[in-house]
Amino acid sequence: MFENSLEFARRCDAEDTLAHFREKFHIPTDSNGNELIYLCGNSLGLQPKSTSTYIKKELEDWANLGVEGHTHARHPWMPYHEFLTEKMAKLVGAKNEEVVVMNTLTTNLHLMMVSFYQPTKARYKIVVESDAFPSDKYAVESQLRFHGFAPSDGLILWKPRPGEDLCRMEDLEEIMKEEGSSIALLMIGSTNYYSGQSFPLKEITKLGHDHGCKVGFDLAHGAGNILPDLHNAGPDFAVWCSYKYLNSGPGSLAGCFVHERHAENAQLKRFAGWWGHNKQTRFNMRHEFDPLPGAEGWQLSNPPILSMAAIMASLDVFDEAGMENLREKAIKLTGFLEYLIDELNNDGISMITPRNPDERGCQLSIQLKNANKDLHTRLTAAGVISDWREPDVIRVAPVPLYNSFEDVYKFAERLKQLLNS
Ligand SMILES: *Cc1c(COP(=O)(O)O)cnc(C)c1O
Repeated sequence: MFENSLEFARRCDAEDTLAHFREKFHIPTDSNGNELIYLCGNSLGLQPKSTSTYIKKELEDWANLGVEGHTHARHPWMPYHEFLTEKMAKLVGAKNEEVVVMNTLTTNLHLMMVSFYQPTKARYKIVVESDAFPSDKYAVESQLRFHGFAPSDGLILWKPRPGEDLCRMEDLEEIMKEEGSSIALLMIGSTNYYSGQSFPLKEITKLGHDHGCKVGFDLAHGAGNILPDLHNAGPDFAVWCSYKYLNSGPGSLAGCFVHERHAENAQLKRFAGWWGHNKQTRFNMRHEFDPLPGAEGWQLSNPPILSMAAIMASLDVFDEAGMENLREKAIKLTGFLEYLIDELNNDGISMITPRNPDERGCQLSIQLKNANKDLHTRLTAAGVISDWREPDVIRVAPVPLYNSFEDVYKFAERLKQLLNS
């Protein structure tokens, strides 16, 4: 299926119907103006060239209209978040009323746990995958403590077996069989940031619900990467950031999903703010809190429009490309990378990420035994932007919107040169 040559890579690019999307992005360059091989879209996605136009529009409307922009801007600021909902919902496979863009990722995680982690003396434990992103782990531990439970007792880690790198579904089933009745919440990264392993969201949700637990997913490495099909997968909630695969700029706002089954439940405990209040009476200021139905009802504040403009720019690019098309290209692009790594025939290299495309997104996590950070430093000097995790793992994520097969080929060539030098 693949060939190990620059000609083959160029042929793939020539046949790629999404190749022209690369032109829509600013590709970082070295000091001589040469484009870098950017394989770090899993950490910070590149900037669409259209982003500055979208932001400038809001700056102009603010300059020209002042406060009147809330209602008279070309995209009025008061309902601005609504302009993002449909495209964001489509990306994660949700219904519109299940999705809102608000706050940042860890904030949304806490807000969701306020509503969906309601521990009792008998059922209070939380399961996370081991090697969960540190922020998620801190958030979960602090929720346990907040409710008076010790993380040493209340936190259950779903771990790879000794000598293995990936989590097995049967081990999660075992945890649930043994401790299910004391578990309140399963909080799992849809796609693990370190290993690149994507989990079967629907199966995990069913497993959790069968044991009476709530289920939430962190899609930080899933949104804009895999097809999470959130509504059908059925978790109670999900959260994700927009600055990784979603290309919406450093620290930009996050997404939040609340399943339809909770949409009308005004009895759910939540931390409230005026932006979650009934739009008809929001400005009467005196009303009792009357939550909007669906995910919108969890909003706190009026949002930063400049960041939302960057999200709108990015979502328009995604919408034009189509997430299914992107996923199809990603499977081929990452498959090509995997093939070239295997072609290096180097015993010191092993792949942490699953070999099965259904169990991963764009990213491959490659273990380089006996290597150290010096290799990463030299790779960077050779014009490759990638990510190093101590002690010996390099994470590379070819992104279908702006990475080419030629990028992938050149990366493998440069890695080979450095390993042989
Ligand atoms: C990137 C990432 C975060 C970062 O959280 P912020 O609140 O956006 O700073 C958290 N969790 C996961 C799984 C991530 O990948």
